[in-house]
Amino acid sequence: MYEGNGKMSGKGTVIIKNAAAIVSCDENDTVYHDSDILIEGPKILKIDDKIDDEPADEIIDARGKFVYPGMVNTHHHFFQTFVRNLTTIDYPNMLVLDWIEEIYKIFKLIDPDVIYYSSLTAMADLLKHGCTTAFDHQYCYPRSAGKQLVDRQMEAAQQLGIRYHAGRGANTLPHKDGGNVPEEMVETTEEFIADCERLIDMFHDPEPYSMRQIVVAPCQPINCYKDTFSQSLELARDKGVYLHTHLGEGENPAILERWGVRTLKWCEEIGFAGPDVWYAHGWELTPEEYKVMGETGTGLSHCPAPATLGGFPIIDIPSMKKNGMRLSLGCDGSATNDSSNMLDSLRMAYLMQSYHSKSRGGAPSGYEMLKLATKGGSHMIGRNDLGSLEPGKGADLFMIDTERLDLAGALHDPGNLLARVGVTGDVWLTMVNGKVVYSDGILTGVDEIRLAREAEEVCTRVLREKSSKFY
Ligand SMILES: [Zn+2]
Repeated sequence: MYEGNGKMSGKGTVIIKNAAAIVSCDENDTVYHDSDILIEGPKILKIDDKIDDEPADEIIDARGKFVYPGMVNTHHHFFQTFVRNLTTIDYPNMLVLDWIEEIYKIFKLIDPDVIYYSSLTAMADLLKHGCTTAFDHQYCYPRSAGKQLVDRQMEAAQQLGIRYHAGRGANTLPHKDGGNVPEEMVETTEEFIADCERLIDMFHDPEPYSMRQIVVAPCQPINCYKDTFSQSLELARDKGVYLHTHLGEGENPAILERWGVRTLKWCEEIGFAGPDVWYAHGWELTPEEYKVMGETGTGLSHCPAPATLGGFPIIDIPSMKKNGMRLSLGCDGSATNDSSNMLDSLRMAYLMQSYHSKSRGGAPSGYEMLKLATKGGSHMIGRNDLGSLEPGKGADLFMIDTERLDLAGALHDPGNLLARVGVTGDVWLTMVNGKVVYSDGILTGVDEIRLAREAEEVCTRVLREKSSKFY
C-alpha cells in the first residue's frame, strides 16, 4: 500500500492521494471529492484536489476510498469485554440494580492481566471500526488487584497506537451505608483521590496532539459518598483535568429517597457540572433538566446499545440540541453492549432517533449522528485539536473501501452513508496521530493472533474457571 517516492522529507510526511471523498466534518460541512491530504508528523497540513509538489515519506493510494475523521468514543468499560455474551446474567431481562449486584460477583475476580488483555481486546475492536480516541471508565478495583490498573491500560493503548483518555473511577459507599458493590471492591475516597493524583502526575499530557490524558470519574452517585464527588471536583479543577460519571440510568428514585433531590440536582449542588464535566446515559433526564445542562455546558454521552438492551427510553436528541446540550456517542461497557464497535453504535443511535421521528417532529440525519461521534466526541473530552479533517487538526482518520458490491448504489452521500446504510465490517485503514495503526485487516503494532490466544487463556484462567456464571 505504501510507495516511497524517493523524496524523503525526514519530517514524517504522508500524502493520502486521490481519495474518492473526504468527509471533513468542518464548520462548513465540506466534502472533498478526488482529493489529497498532506500530513506532517501528528497533524494535517493541507487538503487539496492535487498535492504533487510536496515531498513525502509515505504515499497512501486512496482511490475508491471514503475518508472520515476518527471517531471518539466517550463512554466505555474495557474490563467488561471479558464478560460478554453471558446469558446467565442477562441485562435485557434484569433490573439494572439487580444486574449490578450479580455481575459484580464476577468483576471482583478481575486482576491486572484481565485489565490488560480486555483493554487490548476492546481497543482493537475500536480501531478496526474507525475509532481513534477512546475514553474508558475504569472503576473496577478489587482489593486483590492492586492500583496499577490504568497503568496496564496505558501499556495496551501504546502498543496499539490508539489515543487514550483514562477515566479513573471508584465506588466508595459500603453496603452498610446503602451501596450495592461487594466490599472487596469498595475503595475509600482517600485511596481513590490519591491514585487519581498519581495517575495525573504520571500520565496526563494536556498538550495538543497528546496521546494520553486522565479524567477523574467516580463511578456513580448511588455507590459513592458525596465527599468522593466534591473531592474529585477539587482535584480535577486544581489539575485542569475533566470529570465524568454515570447519571440518569435508573437511579433517580433511589437518589430521591436518599437525598431528597434528583441525581442531576445532587451533582449540581456539589458543583459536579460545567463545560469540563460529562455524564453517561441520561435516560431519565427531563426536558427541564436538558435546559439546565445546556445552561451549565455539561455534556452527555449517548450510549445506544445499553439503552436498547435494557429497554430504557430513547433520549430526545433534537430537543437536547435545541436546549444547547453538548452530545457525543459511546459504546458503553461490553457487558451491556457485547461489542466495542462504534460504527455499529452509530447506526443503532441513528435508527433509535428515527423511531421517534414522527412524534418528535423529525430525526437527526445520518450525517448529524456522525458528527456526534466525531466533533461531538472531541468537544466532549476537551480535544479541539481533533474531531474534523482540516489543516492544523490531529491526523486521526479512517477510510472505507467503496469498491464493494454491497455499497453500490449508495455512494452519492458519503456523509450520510455510515449511519444510514451502515458499514458494519472493519474499515480499510485507521490512522492515529499521523500513523497507520490498522490497514487491510492488520493491526500494525502487534501480533494479533498471539495476543488473542493469550487473552482467551487469561479470561479462562482468571474468570471462567472461577465462576459458574460462564456456563
Ligand atoms: Zn457505563
